[in-house]
Amino acid sequence: MANAPRHSERAGVRGLVERLDGVFGSRRLGRELALLQRTFDAVPDGWMVLGDSGAVATENDAARRLLGMVRGDHRTLVEVARDPAVDSLIAGEVEDGIVEIASPIDESTRLELRHIRADGGQSIVLVRDVTTLNRLLTMRQDFIANVSHELRTPLTVIVGYLEALEDDDIDLDTMRRLLNRLHAPAERMKALVDDLLTLTRLESSPMPGPDDVEVVNVAAMVDSIVAEARQLAGPEHEFHIAVDSDLCVAGVPTELHSACFNLVANAIRYSPDGGPIHVRWQASDSGPRFEVEDAGQGIAAEHLSRLTERFFRVDLADSRARGGTGLGLAIVKHVLRRHNSELRVASEVGEGSVFHFVLPAISTSETGAAPPA
Ligand code: ADP
Repeated sequence: MANAPRHSERAGVRGLVERLDGVFGSRRLGRELALLQRTFDAVPDGWMVLGDSGAVATENDAARRLLGMVRGDHRTLVEVARDPAVDSLIAGEVEDGIVEIASPIDESTRLELRHIRADGGQSIVLVRDVTTLNRLLTMRQDFIANVSHELRTPLTVIVGYLEALEDDDIDLDTMRRLLNRLHAPAERMKALVDDLLTLTRLESSPMPGPDDVEVVNVAAMVDSIVAEARQLAGPEHEFHIAVDSDLCVAGVPTELHSACFNLVANAIRYSPDGGPIHVRWQASDSGPRFEVEDAGQGIAAEHLSRLTERFFRVDLADSRARGGTGLGLAIVKHVLRRHNSELRVASEVGEGSVFHFVLPAISTSETGAAPPA
């Protein structure tokens, strides 16, 4: 009898401990579950768990956003996605367990769904927005196709002349004439490779740092560019230069030279009948402004937004015939982006074009570079 109360006391204490454990344990479990859910919600890719009937048992924020679901949505994934490819995916009929579908809420968004079988009839589906990745892959494929095509054309010409040169009966004059003709396509290929290298360097380099930036005397640079450009121009081109010699900017000299030269070269190239070409470097309300104006063939409004795309030409044959590579304005765009600036164009067909950009005015003290002599 003496043990009885102790026994019931022990049972009471154990019960209390168990009850406390239950309360604290489930609270801890609840906290851990909430933490887990918050962690999964922070993941930018979507994930969901499907029950054996294919109904969505749980999902994170990204999955709801990508697939247009609401919290507590108990539809099956097949109902949510509305794409037959998802039926096959869930049925295990897709070899690598991955399908790509259009988002059910936005046709232009491409989603990649990956199905992973788990224990107990459940499965996990990972959802990833692959729209940007797809666009980049397409751009890369287009770029390679364009480069190959651009190189193939002059190479075909070179191979043709080389075959003609192999003729045993060829006389010296003909041989010289054919060898001479090899220059143009070889120069074309060199120009293309040079522009490609410039563009790749601009695209892959980090933004210019203090060690790359110098005070650039643009007026002096314009002089040398125009001297160089006169060699490309015909006698019918007249150059008008208006520069403020005291106006300097901070920048990467080789890059700014390349951008300005491309604009002047285009003014010559696309005003085949000659006429005035104005090159201006002057202060404006928005900052130091570089401008090239020609009275050439001009550009129709619908092409203006595409001019800086790699290999875009208004008239492919015309550009090629004039030695264009289709990369000049893409180079200008990248140089200006690296100088926190943008290319602006105003043009009218048959009247001519004005290309300009404004460089942020930076005081010489900011660059740490010595002002030009
Ligand atoms: P390209 O090497 O063909 O000149 P760019 O990238 O420099 O390549 O220019 C892209 C296209 O923009 C050119 O093919 C041409 O159609 C058009 N363009 C550029 N500059 C001018 C201009 N000053 N006048 C008329 N068209 C121009």
